[in-house]
Amino acid sequence: MRRTRTLAGIGIAAVTLLALTACNSGSPTTPGGDAGGDAEEPSTWFEVASDVSLEGSPTFDAMTERDGVVVGVKEDQPGLGYLDVTTGERTGFDIDIARWIAASLGFDEDKIEFKPIASANREQAITNGDIDYYVGTYSITDKRKELIDFAGPYFITGQGLLVGADTEGVETLEDLNGKTVCSATGSTPIQNIKANFPEITPKEYDLYSACVEDLINGQVDAVTTDQAILIGFAAQYPEDVKVVGDLFTEERYGVGFTKGDSALQEHINTLFTDGGDIWQAIFDKNLGESGIKVEQPAVD
Ligand code: GLU
Repeated sequence: MRRTRTLAGIGIAAVTLLALTACNSGSPTTPGGDAGGDAEEPSTWFEVASDVSLEGSPTFDAMTERDGVVVGVKEDQPGLGYLDVTTGERTGFDIDIARWIAASLGFDEDKIEFKPIASANREQAITNGDIDYYVGTYSITDKRKELIDFAGPYFITGQGLLVGADTEGVETLEDLNGKTVCSATGSTPIQNIKANFPEITPKEYDLYSACVEDLINGQVDAVTTDQAILIGFAAQYPEDVKVVGDLFTEERYGVGFTKGDSALQEHINTLFTDGGDIWQAIFDKNLGESGIKVEQPAVD
């Protein structure tokens, strides 16, 4: 009807997919227990659905109309949402979750436009219709739900701390009273510091990478945001920074989209729930060696 079946990848994995399933909902295929076996990229582990119809979804109607998907993402968060500017390659757990959703809606990789949107601008990008959906360490909160809707959660982490590699004696936000702590504008962690830690001097940027740069240059004493994000930066700059302390909030990541699109919400939640091993394969590929221990959460 609207498009013919295409495979999200070529080669053995894709052929196996066809043999294993004739289902058309971005359905689970290979991965098995071991990060996808021979498949190099998660995009070869699911196939692009064909003849998708999502009755009553304005988002899906817009995608169909333009024959493409516009996904809001982060691109400075290693392991989660990252753009290698030299190769142009996008990697990360969130990026592959976004690809999986696109495939389940009938859109191949080359029909996806990734748009970097900073934490502070997410709700606006969604309400303006600049993006179809957002996948980027986006915590489900009641305040955000006043403006947009979420599917998920698909990942759970919590706020943590990143300090200089030589720093001693910092484990909690209380230990940073009288110090300067950096986070991203509009994020839950910056709101937490401002609301609950009056003795901390907050510093904020659009991007966490700018905070990490300040930390490395000695301009701030710590960076706070979700520990999963901080672990990615610590792996990127192991000589300079380290993650300390325990998680001190619960951050439940959702996929954000236009308020009222319950057809899309149900579609994505069903994909997560019925996705078989795909979530685990995406996790193993991107975060398996990070030390992060997270199981796939049940959707709301
Ligand atoms: N998950 C938190 C939030 O949504 C922090 C990470 C981010 O800014 O993306 O605000």
